[in-house]
Amino acid sequence: MKRTELKRRTPLRANPQKRKTAKRDPLDDLFSEYVRRRALARVGGCERCLAKKHDTTRDDGTTRPAYMQLQCSHFIGRTTYTVRWDADNAAGLCGGCHNYLEHNPDEHQAWFLGHLGQNGYDMLQARRRTRQRPDRNALGIYYKVQVTLFKEGV
Ligand SMILES: [Zn+2]
Repeated sequence: MKRTELKRRTPLRANPQKRKTAKRDPLDDLFSEYVRRRALARVGGCERCLAKKHDTTRDDGTTRPAYMQLQCSHFIGRTTYTVRWDADNAAGLCGGCHNYLEHNPDEHQAWFLGHLGQNGYDMLQARRRTRQRPDRNALGIYYKVQVTLFKEGV
């Protein structure tokens, strides 16, 4: 009787794909870049403390664009899908302001209220409560165009 070949064990994958805790959508990166470039176009830097941001040069001689020194701060968190990519639901802030508002919920709310104005704030809250799912394709096209326009300085 022929000996059967020992079944080879399937080797463990060297780099099993790690699951990210918060699932990030590619649209998040585009939206974030839009919000940060918009802040530069609006006030030249952080929308809260108004600290100016400029392009800088890295050690290797490449340019680090000013928008990269800002962070995209959501008012209503990204888990609320209806306003996740809503242009009114985010601002471009410096790291200090972003961190400060994140840890001071009352001031976070007050700042966005002042930033948007009562009407803009109410409209955002109304959009939050809709059950409509955002049109990711349309938003992707829209923000891609907006980012291009900011890049071209239009
Ligand atoms: Zn700031």
